Amino acid sequence: MQVAVVTVGDELLAGDTQNTNATWLCKQLTERGVSVQRVTTLPDDIGDIARVVNEYHAEYDAVVVTGGLGPTHDDVTMDAVAAAFGRSMERHEEAELWLETNGGYSAKELVEGTTDLPAGARMLPNDEGVAPGAVVGSVYVLPGVPREMKAMFDRVADEFAGEQTYVRFVHTSEPESSLIERFEAVQAQFDVTVGSYPGDHVRVKLAGRDEAAVDAAVAWLEERVDLFEEA
Ligand code: ATP
Ligand code: MG
Repeated sequence: MQVAVVTVGDELLAGDTQNTNATWLCKQLTERGVSVQRVTTLPDDIGDIARVVNEYHAEYDAVVVTGGLGPTHDDVTMDAVAAAFGRSMERHEEAELWLETNGGYSAKELVEGTTDLPAGARMLPNDEGVAPGAVVGSVYVLPGVPREMKAMFDRVADEFAGEQTYVRFVHTSEPESSLIERFEAVQAQFDVTVGSYPGDHVRVKLAGRDEAAVDAAVAWLEERVDLFEEA
């Protein structure tokens, strides 16, 4: 399993805060047999974060993002992850319920947007703080505060044990440039990553942890592209 770690925060780039989250995560992941391929630190910039998350999500089996989770205006990580997946931000009822039941907050007390997560995300409760984390596809979004980040990672640590990835290919005679919208659509509907490899024809790689989702994505795409027939 190959993983990228993304730490977000202007204070990290300015040298005001030591990036202990990156080191801690790399150690945890490596100890679990995961191969960490990248550690990237980004400013609190929605475009930068969305672009890198999108790229790493396609490239690696999972991406762990920390920092910039709160509902304040300088915290844009969740919005950026939603943008990377082409999803909207929505009030997450389970997050709201969790904070009411476990955090002792009523929905009205919470700062507007606290329980907003990318549509379809799995919510990760914050045992040490307020802002929930999320899993979107294979992107894990954790808080920046080290104590909160560690507690949340512990909840999902077992998912980083080198689980099998299922890979299937679709071969098409269409040019790569004409396929982009269908690639976006298949990724929006199924929990898969799409890679495309042009050559004498385009090989489209669909990969994911859930075999049924990969098979469904293959079937969906095969119905919607001109299939390449071997001469
Ligand atoms: P909050 O909801 O409290 O704003 P957050 O998830 O938005 O939390 P940040 O705003 O990014 O997190 O950072 C909160 C605190 O955690 C800051 O003090 C910051 O310096 C520290 N922090 C953030 N990222 C890291 C990191 N990679 N390593 C160590 N400390 C970090
Ligand atoms: Mg913050």
